[in-house]
Amino acid sequence: MIKESILKPEDATFRETVPAGDYFLKVVKKGETVRILDLEGNQAADTLFFNADDSAERYSAVDTIREQGNVYLTAGTVLRSNRNNPMLEITADTCGRHDTLGGACATESNTVRYDLEKRCMHACRDSWMLAVNEHEEFGLGKRDITHNINFFMNVPVTADGGLTFEDGISAPGKYVELKALMNTTVLISNCPQLNNLCNGYNPTPIEVLIW
Ligand SMILES: [Zn+2]
Repeated sequence: MIKESILKPEDATFRETVPAGDYFLKVVKKGETVRILDLEGNQAADTLFFNADDSAERYSAVDTIREQGNVYLTAGTVLRSNRNNPMLEITADTCGRHDTLGGACATESNTVRYDLEKRCMHACRDSWMLAVNEHEEFGLGKRDITHNINFFMNVPVTADGGLTFEDGISAPGKYVELKALMNTTVLISNCPQLNNLCNGYNPTPIEVLIW
């Protein structure tokens, strides 16, 4: 569902550009709104959310899908935790649909999907691991790297339940906006993937804004 934001970028209290292949890690406080902006289009922002006050509580794809009765995330979606608590609500979305089934790229999956020689290529899982290791103060570790959201990624489910990775439906300037319903740690890997047409084989920067 397409829903424009009423928030103005010039009023944001925080803005940061995240290059492709880099990560973003920050706490968004309850009541604040975070926007992820697809600057050049067709980028994939692989995202994990945690309760900032108790990192054992984290985003759960299963609980979110069951409670809303739909596999796609868009405006109106309430992202739920593994304790079925509401974590964030998608309050604006100019892309229209986001994936939470396809998972993140890893060096291991790159070898299975593409080629053995792709193993040395940078992947989202590496960026997340680097983030939690460089920032021990967030209390996150390897076991917290679980199922994620792929903002801007197009993974349509076929009529017979198949998963397909398709060319992106995002475009330059499209964004998704989420209001935090609890103090939430946001961990994004701006995907470095070069083998998947989900980002047009061309990883590009995103921008994160907070109000
Ligand atoms: Zn990736």
